[in-house]
Amino acid sequence: MARRRQIYEGKAKILYEGPEPGTLIQYFKDDATAFNAQKKGTINGKGVLNNRISEHVFTMLGNIGVPTHFIRRLNMREQLIRQVEIVPIEVVVRNVVAGSLAKRLGIEEGTQLPRTIIEYYYKDDALGDPMVTDEHIACFGWASQEEMHDIADMAIRVNDFLTGLFAGINIRLVDFKLEFGRIWENDFSRVILADEISPDGCRLWDMTTNEKLDKDRFRRDLGGEVEAYQEVARRLGLLPAEGTETAVLDMESHRKKRGQ
Ligand code: UDP
Repeated sequence: MARRRQIYEGKAKILYEGPEPGTLIQYFKDDATAFNAQKKGTINGKGVLNNRISEHVFTMLGNIGVPTHFIRRLNMREQLIRQVEIVPIEVVVRNVVAGSLAKRLGIEEGTQLPRTIIEYYYKDDALGDPMVTDEHIACFGWASQEEMHDIADMAIRVNDFLTGLFAGINIRLVDFKLEFGRIWENDFSRVILADEISPDGCRLWDMTTNEKLDKDRFRRDLGGEVEAYQEVARRLGLLPAEGTETAVLDMESHRKKRGQ
């Protein structure tokens, strides 16, 4: 018997119908994919950590006035969110050269950019999420020019805030991906921040050692994925001090055994 209706299953998350109209439940899986899902794996405990990290980041962004879909965390793997109509654009913000930018333009990873770059990718797995410009977005009606203006504004605010937040815990915010969604109020719509912000969609490097504390550990077979995510959570003050890092996951398996 289905406990509730599944609305959508993505690579790392599942969306269920929420308790009230206009809400959804976002469930964080341990599944990890890379290179347009050609590489697949599991990072045990990742979902628990990303749920917590994303809750923290979205709450703080909400506090500085960035509208988000986040309502509240429900349990270790789930959060209640506002239902949005996802804008089919991945917004990538870059402060330092890495990943596809390094490859495409032949620039060394780690090169500091003289100014922040915003890139847009059309969300289409079959096409491998091609990079697009404002022109394509307007031409094909994926978002209006007004919406794109608001999206770029919010992306810069998120970047300014997160750069400082991570710098304060000795982490360099190299780049990250954001998604936005439309909400309707009467006949008007506005865009708000949606999806998640976690080491799955950010490049986070230790400022002293340049150690990667993000999904590149999985993409590049570096190992220590969960430890890296835990380190981010710990530095954000979301996990107890070192040595107790397995506590969260132990607690989860304990609760599962008790059928909670
Ligand atoms: N990113 C993401 N999902 C995607 C593509 C990129 O979350 O489908 C994030 C990625 O984690 C990185 C940033 O966006 O923080 C820039 O990624 P890039 O374009 O360098 O692509 P990648 O090297 O990940 O293929």
